[in-house]
Amino acid sequence: MAFDILIRGGNVLDGTGSPARAADIGIQRGRIARVGKLTGAPAHRTIDAKGLFVAPGFIDIHTHSDIGILVEPTAECAVRQGVTTHVIGNCGDSPAPISEGYRELATRRFEYYAQAREWDWTTYGEYLDFMEANGVGVNIAGLVGHGPSGPPSWDSTSGRQTAGRCGR
Ligand SMILES: [Zn+2]
Repeated sequence: MAFDILIRGGNVLDGTGSPARAADIGIQRGRIARVGKLTGAPAHRTIDAKGLFVAPGFIDIHTHSDIGILVEPTAECAVRQGVTTHVIGNCGDSPAPISEGYRELATRRFEYYAQAREWDWTTYGEYLDFMEANGVGVNIAGLVGHGPSGPPSWDSTSGRQTAGRCGR
């Protein structure tokens, strides 16, 4: 059976910390099927990686792309750098779950939130459904920020935590 893609002759860094080793990589149905010397193996598409490194996708653990991924779902600028996974919800800030009070605060406090075409979600699951329906070019690992998950401690008019509510 022919591979869908065959990456030939690259220096493979497998992500285990082992030194790079020369190997071919056969891909079928979007998954790595074989790694090794695959001389003569048929493929629908062959990529010559001689003199190049081949590595698993990188994980960017601090992106703040919660809304950016909705505005630019392909994340092409990340993918072109080898980043295939974004961790979102950093620094206590995530766009879900969201109450009506926090929605208003977030759109005022965070200018980039206003770039989203629409905020048609309330729960985190609805946010992820919206993202999936919009299409997404990288894997997403989401954190739920303490900002939206604790709206009672925020004064929606000043954007500051209120002393009386911080003790809750
Ligand atoms: Zn941050």
